[in-house]
Amino acid sequence: ATFKDIGVMEQLCEACEKLGFKAPTEIQRESIPWSLSGRDIIGLAQTGSGKTAAFALPILQALWNNPSPLFACIMAPTRELAYQISETFEALGSGIGAKCAVVVGGMDLISQQIALSKKPHIIVCTPGRLQDHLENTKGFSLRTLKYLVMDEADRLLDMDFGPKIDQILKVIPRERTTFLFSATMTTKVAKLQRASLTDPVKIEV
Ligand code: AMP
Repeated sequence: ATFKDIGVMEQLCEACEKLGFKAPTEIQRESIPWSLSGRDIIGLAQTGSGKTAAFALPILQALWNNPSPLFACIMAPTRELAYQISETFEALGSGIGAKCAVVVGGMDLISQQIALSKKPHIIVCTPGRLQDHLENTKGFSLRTLKYLVMDEADRLLDMDFGPKIDQILKVIPRERTTFLFSATMTTKVAKLQRASLTDPVKIEV
């Protein structure tokens, strides 16, 4: 199958080609048709499987079809992973005008506040710092959010981000699409799944 075969729009197929992605990986092939159709996804996949593009492509396509600020929020367990995710969004999405901001702990709060005030389409964050901005950054909210991604959910929970994630879930729209990716299915991941996803399609690679 090609990216086009699984429903990816022309401009994003071209972006994939520029990055040297010749064909979708297994997680991309199995999840993208579902995520493009609006379903919630639970993806059991390791780093290296191509999971980042598996969630970035359908989000960028939905953004193109219905552009609005603060469209998607991606939660990651570490700063390094958050920056990698944002690089993927920029590489795939700059051609369609997608704007991304990274909001992670240990980095300057004021410059993040300025970035958020510009209303990026996509926020990639660690949960603690996102919660900090939700409480303290004037005018910032996620009330317009359409997509939530929890990446490496097992690690997010091992790092005790569970309570922060619960708080964030309370202040974002219930009507949204949610993707949860994890290397392993643990009791804690199953509990988070029940709290945050609606009738998800489960994909294991
Ligand atoms: P990830 O699992 O998201 O960390 O991706 C692992 C690596 O695979 C990254 O360097 C991606 O750029 C690359 N990648 C993602 N999708 C594809 C694809 N369809 N074909 C070739 N490489 C890919």
